[in-house]
Amino acid sequence: HFITFEGGEGAGKSTQIARLKTFLESCGIKVVVTREPGGSPGAEKIRALLLSGEARELGPRGEAMLFAAARADHVDTTIRPALEQGTWVLCDRYADSTRVYQGEAGVDPDYLKLLETAAVAGVYPELTILIDVPADVGLKRVVQRSETDASGGPDRFEGEALTVHERRRQLFLALAKEEDYRFAVIDGQQDTDQVESSIRNAVLNAFQQ
Ligand code: C5P
Repeated sequence: HFITFEGGEGAGKSTQIARLKTFLESCGIKVVVTREPGGSPGAEKIRALLLSGEARELGPRGEAMLFAAARADHVDTTIRPALEQGTWVLCDRYADSTRVYQGEAGVDPDYLKLLETAAVAGVYPELTILIDVPADVGLKRVVQRSETDASGGPDRFEGEALTVHERRRQLFLALAKEEDYRFAVIDGQQDTDQVESSIRNAVLNAFQQ
């Protein structure tokens, strides 16, 4: 199965992905955890360009193509091979992040749709976990995280204005409504254990017939 995790900065995706992985493995399931942008050696190179801000010289349309190029490689070298072996794939961000982030940045949705179709080559998530937190709550967590670890502080996306983050949040929520057949929206303001069990329930619901 293919499960993607979406949400704004500081939503708690990485923590929850690690916990779900532990749970699934305790059930005897083989799991691969991966992320976007990145998730394969080639795509990680593109990630470095994107997050450093160097790719900005390309403009938003060119940058969207880089996200798509990274995704195509990620699908071909990591995601599809794992799925074909019956391994579950948990992916930290996927095509929905592009719809939201590059969409919010003003890239034409039809153009994004074309790139998405080309990049994913038929590999769509069966379940998307959207961890929803208000923008200010998420950003506070990011600031705390950068004070306590060696991640080098917020990247260029994390340093943006609160209104931008709140707009993205609303776009994620709208997307979850539009494609509700595959989305589970989880309240990321619950404590970490509660978020974990909400996610576990969503997964069991989706896959336990
Ligand atoms: O999830 P993570 O914080 O590792 O994502 C890396 C960064 O890339 C984020 O700050 C996110 O805002 C940005 N991003 C983006 N467009 C995407 C995917 C991620 O701007 N399609």
